[in-house]
Amino acid sequence: MILVLIDHDLGEIDPLSLRALTAARKLSEEVEAVVIGEAGRSVADIVGNYGAKVLHVATHAELTDYTPAASGRALVQLIEKLAPQALLAVGSPRGNEQLAHVATMMDLPMASECSEITFGKPHSVVRARWAANLFEDALVHSDLLIATVLAFSVEPELAPGETKAKVEVFMVELSSADLRVKVLSRGGDTGRGGVTLADAKVIVSGGRGVGGPEGFAALEELADLLEGTVGCSRVVTSAGWRPHAEQVGQTGTKVAPDLYIAAGISGAMQHIAGCKNSKNIVVINTDPEAPIMAYADYAIIGDLHQVIPALTAAIKEMKGK
Ligand SMILES: Cc1cc2nc3c(=O)[nH]c(=O)nc-3n(C[C@H](O)[C@H](O)[C@H](O)COP(=O)(O)OP(=O)(O)OC[C@H]3O[C@@H](n4cnc5c(N)ncnc54)[C@H](O)[C@@H]3O)c2cc1C
Repeated sequence: MILVLIDHDLGEIDPLSLRALTAARKLSEEVEAVVIGEAGRSVADIVGNYGAKVLHVATHAELTDYTPAASGRALVQLIEKLAPQALLAVGSPRGNEQLAHVATMMDLPMASECSEITFGKPHSVVRARWAANLFEDALVHSDLLIATVLAFSVEPELAPGETKAKVEVFMVELSSADLRVKVLSRGGDTGRGGVTLADAKVIVSGGRGVGGPEGFAALEELADLLEGTVGCSRVVTSAGWRPHAEQVGQTGTKVAPDLYIAAGISGAMQHIAGCKNSKNIVVINTDPEAPIMAYADYAIIGDLHQVIPALTAAIKEMKGK
């Protein structure tokens, strides 16, 4: 049986976890899911639809928000009870962190961001390194495989037929050391609200070329018109023009929208790592030699301060607005 950690934020599922569940289903017919904290119980129907036969709910009075070491402890206790063949999660920062705690507590290896997994003795995996610019073949020498799945290496797929996950609650024992890292409060750095970067079908992203925080008003207008959201490069978040929640890239969010508009972004490796899985990339840049051109499906060579308002006006006209 493969056990898959389903990450959630106060009961709201991280949709990327469904990719890990799909990857698990391709490896085994016996797939069970686990959530940390009672609030995660709300994901039972959805994980059932994606093929998990059981949803284990790790329960403890302190498991009310993200507590990575405590998650690790809960997962170790469940592994001792169920003895799965593998523990998988999605290779998000949170997925990697929680599984790293499990590996440390069990003194076992962990393979992060795997695009391929083959069970064996040893297990073999292909792992993304250097922001997925390099793929490494690796062997994992342990009976239990602890691994995260490279987020965009698998599309989420509903399980065939009618599937339902049985909910099983298990009580977790935690020490104060397991609770050393926990969320104390949540700040205002949460982006524009509405569509999140990870879910957006359209992202209008701006870089240094936007010129300052006020320049993003035009990007917001275009994003709203296309029912999308705004993203940005790290230069932009470092300058404080936009919140970190909007940063796309290696140290931001990895996205895969239908349409990614990159305006005034040069295409550094660390930015591309976050957007190269987009289905269509439209680049707006004054420099025809900018590295991002290599990833463009369409490119508009020009000043974004002219191009974006022109695009917005044309789309408004098409939509009769
Ligand atoms: C460990 C590490 C992690 C990192 N993580 C990330 C990350 O997650 N995300 C990220 O984005 N970066 C990340 N970076 C930073 C990255 O290396 C680049 O510095 C950054 O992406 C550059 O941002 P930019 O493209 O906005 O700026 P620049 O590289 O300065 O590019 C600006 C572009 O705008 C164009 N331009 C200028 N004016 C206009 C105009 N009027 N109209 C149209 N085009 C114009 C220019 O031709 C240029 O191509 C990371 C770096 C490190 C070392």
